[in-house]
Amino acid sequence: MARATVLGRLTWRVATVTAVRDETSGARTITLDVPGWPGHLAGQHVDVRLTAPDGYSTQRSYSIASAADGERVELTVEPLPDGEVSPYLAQVLSPGDPLEIRGPIGGWFVWRPEASEPVQLVAGGSGVVPLMAMIRARASAGVGTPFRLLYSTRGPGSVLYRAELERHSADGSGLDVTYAYTREVPDGWARPPARVDAALLAEAVWPVERKPAVFVCGPTGFVETVAGLLVSAGHDPRLIRTERFGPSGGPS
Ligand SMILES: Cc1cc2nc3c(=O)[nH]c(=O)nc-3n(C[C@H](O)[C@H](O)[C@H](O)COP(=O)(O)OP(=O)(O)OC[C@H]3O[C@@H](n4cnc5c(N)ncnc54)[C@H](O)[C@@H]3O)c2cc1C
Repeated sequence: MARATVLGRLTWRVATVTAVRDETSGARTITLDVPGWPGHLAGQHVDVRLTAPDGYSTQRSYSIASAADGERVELTVEPLPDGEVSPYLAQVLSPGDPLEIRGPIGGWFVWRPEASEPVQLVAGGSGVVPLMAMIRARASAGVGTPFRLLYSTRGPGSVLYRAELERHSADGSGLDVTYAYTREVPDGWARPPARVDAALLAEAVWPVERKPAVFVCGPTGFVETVAGLLVSAGHDPRLIRTERFGPSGGPS
């Protein structure tokens, strides 16, 4: 049984793109219909495989942005200039196109709605994608687990899911969002552009005594810096889970 489950996750499935939507001027969410999708937990990812007509094939990992919802799976891709895979996914792929994926993958960087401890999410750039899946899973389970999100991004124009985050944080269910802009800030913003530092973490993160479950996701350097600062501030390293969006995959 366990073997069948693992084999199912390792099997490539041909999904169909049912919709695409722009999240910012660059990043795009792709909605997929995946026949036979076994369901997933918030925080898991998939591998995506592209194959050229000459047979050359390459794969990359992408976090699942959506909460479990039958055979529907959403990914959000921030294209890297000169990237091999991400510009195709974010700029070329269209409704009706097939896309090979396998998963869900990952059993550590996950949040389950039955967990009751406060949750601290810390995102750098597109690292917000799996954290958004957690926020969506919380909303769809209808639980009021206290959640805080500290979201570091280049500027107001690069915030993913802004309207939805505003809606969830205004609905009184206990989600608190703090933005940290690294290059450009909105007019009248109190904090000048800066990277996340110890002072901001002390302000925006649950106090150590609350023993929050912490999820940190983003570029490797961001994740390592934030996790180090949290441990220095007294957070228990066993409660800190990290996901690094470094280069993934390669030719297969
Ligand atoms: C578990 C996991 C989940 C991920 N989820 C997402 C997601 O939800 N959304 C998303 O947009 N991306 C995500 N990524 C990153 C993604 O897998 C690819 O690495 C990214 O899209 C670049 O692929 P590419 O083929 O376009 O670039 P490549 O052709 O692989 O690389 C182009 C250049 O950019 C550098 N580079 C590659 N990846 C990165 C990166 N992530 N950060 C900085 N420089 C890089 C390379 O070293 C190279 O110099 C995730 C990565 C992992 C490991």
